[in-house]
Amino acid sequence: MEESNSYYTRELGARKRIALVAHDHKKKDLIEWAIHNKEQLQKHQLFATGTTGKLLEKALDVHVTQFLSGPLGGDQQIGAKIAEGKIDAVVFFWDPMEALPHDPDIKALLRLAVAWNIPTACNRATADFLMTSPLMREAYEVILPDYSKYLGRKV
Ligand code: PGA
Repeated sequence: MEESNSYYTRELGARKRIALVAHDHKKKDLIEWAIHNKEQLQKHQLFATGTTGKLLEKALDVHVTQFLSGPLGGDQQIGAKIAEGKIDAVVFFWDPMEALPHDPDIKALLRLAVAWNIPTACNRATADFLMTSPLMREAYEVILPDYSKYLGRKV
């Protein structure tokens, strides 16, 4: 089977729209990380699920656009924004040691982050690599598969 190499790009601006989410046992970790990276984070536009957003706003003293709490639909709201091209990066400290009721929503959010090829950090080390990347401070062309074949498929 022949694979087509066609793709297109989408630009992530220099000022990134970053979505942050942390599960309950990871919230302390995320807040510590955010305080450590406060100066960098303040240069970007921040979004978060409800409880994570409240904690971040208090810890960083910056405005954080808050969606619903994760289990109430917040993860899905962030996923929708990714699909609409309105989120440029995700920092998602999900808990590998606990099954959560909104597991399908978590998977859906992570799936969309991959489908739209946006930078996604799921632990502190990756979040450090992400925040210290020079690409966080400049515009970046995200390469996306050409979904037009899929959209034009016969149904
Ligand atoms: P929360 O949601 O920030 O409202 O706690 C996070 C999650 O559990 O997905």
